[in-house]
Amino acid sequence: MTQDADGIQVVEIFESLQGEGYNTGMPAVFLRLGGCNLACPWCDTVFDRFETLSEDEVVERVAAFACKTLIITGGEPLIHAGLGGLLERFKSLGYWIALETNGLIAPLEPWRRHIDYLAVSPKALYAELYDDEQMVRQADEVRIVVDGDVQAFCENMRDRIEAAHYFLSPCDRAGEVNTADTVRLLGRLNRGRRTKKWLLSLQTHKLAGFR
Ligand code: SF4
Repeated sequence: MTQDADGIQVVEIFESLQGEGYNTGMPAVFLRLGGCNLACPWCDTVFDRFETLSEDEVVERVAAFACKTLIITGGEPLIHAGLGGLLERFKSLGYWIALETNGLIAPLEPWRRHIDYLAVSPKALYAELYDDEQMVRQADEVRIVVDGDVQAFCENMRDRIEAAHYFLSPCDRAGEVNTADTVRLLGRLNRGRRTKKWLLSLQTHKLAGFR
C-alpha cells in the first residue's frame, strides 16, 4: 500500500446509478480514489488527478448525499492505506458498501468484513502478475474486459476466483467497442456449462449518458 501518506487521495465523489455488472441500475454514491497499480492502455478512468482529503472530509462529502449505498472504486482502492479507516467509519454509519478492484491484491481481512459486495475485474494484459498468495480468491462478481483473446485467462480466473457471478465486458478503445467478439466469447466459454456461466455486462452508464 503506497497511497495516502498525508491524507486520502480522492478523484471524485458523486451520486449516480451503477452502470455495470450484477448491480446495474442500483443508485449509489461513488467514491473514486486516486492511483492505480496497473496501467491498462485502454483505461478510460481518470485516476491521477485527485485532491488529498482527511478521513473526516471524505465522510462529510459522502454523507452530503442521502443515499446509504456506497461504491468505492478507482483507480485501485486497495492500494490506499487509509481505506481501512474509511470502511470502519462508513460501516458504523450504516452504509452498504461495494468495492471495485482489479484483484491483484486481496483486501486485508479486517477490511473485507466491512465490504458487502466485492467486484473484481482482473486484467488479462497483466495475467502474470496475479499471484495466488496475493490476489483476490473470493468475490461476489468477476468482470473481465475482453481485451483481445482472453478465453484462457477467463477460464483461469474462473478456476482461481470463487464468485457468485461471472461477467464479460466489451473493451472500449476510444469509442470502438468489440461487442461482437465479446458475445462470441460468451458462447465459447458457456458451451456445455450448467454452472458458473458467464453473462454480458455492458457499460450502460455510457449508453444511457449517465456519469
Ligand atoms: S486497473 Fe482499472 S483503473 Fe487501473 S489502469 Fe486498468 S482499467 Fe484503469
